[in-house]
Amino acid sequence: MNQLRLDPLTGRWVVVSTDRATRPQAFAPRVAPIQADTSRPCPFCPGNEESATPALETRGPDGKWLVRVVPNLYPAFEGNAPFVVTNRGPVFTQATAGGIHEVLVLSPSHADGWERISDDQAGLVMAAIRDRIEEHSTIPGLRYSQAIVNSGREAGASIEHPHGQLLGISFVPRELAEEQAGFARFAGRCLLCTTVDAEEDAGHRVVYADERVQVICPFWSGTPFEMLVIPRNHGPHLHRAAPADLYAVGRALRNVLGHLRERLGNVAYNLVFHSAPYRASEPYHWHVHIWPKLTTQAGFEMGTGVLINIVAPEQATEELRVTVPV
Ligand SMILES: [Zn+2]
Ligand SMILES: [Zn+2]
Ligand SMILES: [Zn+2]
Repeated sequence: MNQLRLDPLTGRWVVVSTDRATRPQAFAPRVAPIQADTSRPCPFCPGNEESATPALETRGPDGKWLVRVVPNLYPAFEGNAPFVVTNRGPVFTQATAGGIHEVLVLSPSHADGWERISDDQAGLVMAAIRDRIEEHSTIPGLRYSQAIVNSGREAGASIEHPHGQLLGISFVPRELAEEQAGFARFAGRCLLCTTVDAEEDAGHRVVYADERVQVICPFWSGTPFEMLVIPRNHGPHLHRAAPADLYAVGRALRNVLGHLRERLGNVAYNLVFHSAPYRASEPYHWHVHIWPKLTTQAGFEMGTGVLINIVAPEQATEELRVTVPV
């Protein structure tokens, strides 16, 4: 049984999920190639579907799937227990980790991560993310969905086949609340609409731009080569975005991730999709973070929360800029 525990020093919730330690390779050394055990078939390759849990959603032509969503075998959040906080002592605050934890298989191909899929496949993946968040938002007790893609062992992927995860949870996590506060503090106009305009004027941190999406190495980058993907059309919720915007964001991710791998080699990365909690609205503007895993947070960063970035975003942009043929 998973449990949420409150860290009273920081106000952050921690999930204690001991079942996950029993999963294969939970503590494998970070240099080990993922899925070194080739005796077991990949649960996400076509033909092996029966070794995974039954699909919640598939997209693709009849009899074939192109994108597949299945329940996570080792969920960090599960069940529909309401979010009830219990105090078991002056500093022991806990709650039930109710919610949903799903796996999103990005494509039938074992080799093709987001950086290699087609425009249409990227569009299908975004549409599947949209559908699942929409579904989560109708479930009583859930408040927020987090979509992520971990690529590479250093970024936390435990199965090689390219996949993402979708978590529907019963509380608004600290990172989201902090971003909401950032939007609220920025009086006057939307913080990210302003960023798009300001970065367009500045020019030298724009990695990729088309009529619907801008990708930048943000001025405030805390880690080397991090990128921020911003849809130009303002809206707080990913699951209410126009299909064309979702398609364009999927394609932009493919372009910049492809370029990242081309320029820097086979680096691990995390994609983090941020959208307002279902029942929250303005001010917020949904977006996607790309965090290449090139450095490890050390004592100073952990002690202070102050990140030391050894690659200026302007320098990162020079390296990563994608010239789109017109
Ligand atoms: Zn596979
Ligand atoms: Zn905006
Ligand atoms: Zn964010």
